[in-house]
Amino acid sequence: MTAVSFDRRGRRLRFTARHATVLDVRYVAPSIVRIRVTGSDLSDMVSEGPTDHVRVFVPDPATGELVAPAAIGPDVDGIVRPDRPSHGRDLTPMTIERVNEHTVLSLDVALHPEPGPLGDWAFGAVPGAEIVIVGPRGTKSVVQDARCILLIADATALPSCARWAREVPPATAVEVVVLSGAGSEGAAAYLAEQSGRSDLQVTPVHSIAELMHTVRARGVDGTTYVSAAGEAGAMAEVRRWLRRELELPRAQYTVSGYWKRGVSAFDHHAPLDPSDPDD
Ligand SMILES: Cc1cc2nc3c(=O)[nH]c(=O)nc-3n(C[C@H](O)[C@H](O)[C@H](O)COP(=O)(O)OP(=O)(O)OC[C@H]3O[C@@H](n4cnc5c(N)ncnc54)[C@H](O)[C@@H]3O)c2cc1C
Repeated sequence: MTAVSFDRRGRRLRFTARHATVLDVRYVAPSIVRIRVTGSDLSDMVSEGPTDHVRVFVPDPATGELVAPAAIGPDVDGIVRPDRPSHGRDLTPMTIERVNEHTVLSLDVALHPEPGPLGDWAFGAVPGAEIVIVGPRGTKSVVQDARCILLIADATALPSCARWAREVPPATAVEVVVLSGAGSEGAAAYLAEQSGRSDLQVTPVHSIAELMHTVRARGVDGTTYVSAAGEAGAMAEVRRWLRRELELPRAQYTVSGYWKRGVSAFDHHAPLDPSDPDD
């Protein structure tokens, strides 16, 4: 068998801020709401991979005022950041479709019990509401040559998992270990429906200990790519396992903290594990 490269093609995109208007809102799982937005600024927006993300700026929950970065200009790279506090949160672009002459971006938001500005906004979103979207700044395709993709996720990463399953070649097996929690009800049905694949192996787990036990028992061979995303504390454990215990080559996995318990507006570029000298 030829060696697996786990290559993921990537490129930078025009970095700008785009105004968008909510087109419609519907539930695609018991606690996942799909918000479709449109607007002429979206016409050149692209996303070619499941780990791409946009930063969505929503109005201040108290005042209703939308404070957000602005584009430097049409066809120019760069944004002007506001000089006042703003509320931007990261989301995965689920689909970007051309519908008639319009571009429509779908965002799937997992509702959770301590909603900040994004959760509040998503819960009450109505057609006509305005937001500003920054990014994606870059895009990275899926691995094409893995035999299997192992996805480790909580509800916030189900949109990304659905994209992985949809975008890898049909012959690539996809296994998803889903950490139960806010928004994860109906995960298997959501993943099957949103990916269009009926052959996904979805394993729910109910604690970080059960998650680690499950993935350790499974192991990772040289033909499997691992993508993990979710709460930062859980992801720090997953990354320790991949990096320290398995010593997997860096090209064989990606791990991202999508939110952190007790922290509002967690920055996913911040260290996952401050106690790790390599972080
Ligand atoms: C690259 C990337 C892609 C992402 N893609 C998606 C996506 O497609 N869909 C999606 O739903 N989320 C996604 N997220 C996660 C999302 O950005 C966070 O959950 C965000 O913090 C929610 O914002 P908020 O304003 O509701 O809460 P915040 O103001 O950020 O936090 C308020 C409180 O809620 C807690 N909290 C935040 N999120 C959760 C949660 N999910 N469950 C339980 N408690 C929570 C925080 O710890 C804090 O105590 C993504 C994050 C990243 C970095």
